[in-house]
Amino acid sequence: MHRSDIGSQKPIVVGVDVGGTKIAAALVDEEGHLRGCQTRPTNILSPEATLDSIAELILEILNKENIKSAEIRGIGLGIPGLVDPHRGIGIASVNLRWENVFVKDEIQKRVGLPCVIENDVKAAALGEIRYGKSKGVESLIYLNIGTGVAAAIVLNGKIHRGQHNIAGEIGHAVVDIHGPRCQCGGRGCLEALISGPAIVRKFQEKKNRSRKTSLAEFVAENHLLSPKEVYEAASAGDNAARETVDEVSRFLANAIQFLALAYDPQRIVLGGGVVYSTPLFFENLMHVIKQLSEESWVSRHLSEPDFITVTQLGKDIGILGAAALVP
Ligand SMILES: [Zn+2]
Repeated sequence: MHRSDIGSQKPIVVGVDVGGTKIAAALVDEEGHLRGCQTRPTNILSPEATLDSIAELILEILNKENIKSAEIRGIGLGIPGLVDPHRGIGIASVNLRWENVFVKDEIQKRVGLPCVIENDVKAAALGEIRYGKSKGVESLIYLNIGTGVAAAIVLNGKIHRGQHNIAGEIGHAVVDIHGPRCQCGGRGCLEALISGPAIVRKFQEKKNRSRKTSLAEFVAENHLLSPKEVYEAASAGDNAARETVDEVSRFLANAIQFLALAYDPQRIVLGGGVVYSTPLFFENLMHVIKQLSEESWVSRHLSEPDFITVTQLGKDIGILGAAALVP
């Protein structure tokens, strides 16, 4: 039987986006339409508890949508951290507090359907190629900027993993030797400079240093500050915010240039919470990219239309990426 025969018999799969704070899942058809989408907080009390809640969520969706598991082709799971998709093991995930968890077997046992797992950012890249505007693209770099920063590198239509399964983990490349400490133990990693929490922290430090408002006033005002607010403050003319945004855009533009020159992909696609939170993020980035491309002929293609884009799939890319894993 050909793969297309199986596909035509069972066009529906379940995509599950497993995050550190919430799990989102839905039924996904061949065109990438979502059905019965549900989310719930991630139970990270134990790996068992996390697996239980993932399985419960899947079964609940099947039940509510009145669809039998026999009608489902399989389940795809996108998981943060290091993943061994061949053995179906979650090797290490700081967010989920996982170490060597047999995700595939355990989910199959609980739900009774074939299961495929992959790192969430790598899955998202495949989702972009399968369901997004990058259909048919053979070489692509997907760059996620949210609480964490990571890239997925697709070459010749396949995820490039590397020798240690860490190809794409550029969030932990040191880009500023005087930069702040990173969760990984390093100093001045890209993630410690341009992730959502890093943008807010940088702005707060600059604001406190400028002493135009008292520290107490400032803390009272911005205890729930987000990257979006920093970008909006920059647009409104706040100096500390402007400096923050300029630095973030510069570090990111440099990283993108490096990736573009190292792999020379057909396109670079951005996604992640920080990117979706405000169009100002991409606008500011492209301003710096334009400068880079005008300065050096080697980087001229960086500012060509559609070379660097934001995924049109938005937040659904997590579920769609997971769905794209199912053969
Ligand atoms: Zn790091």
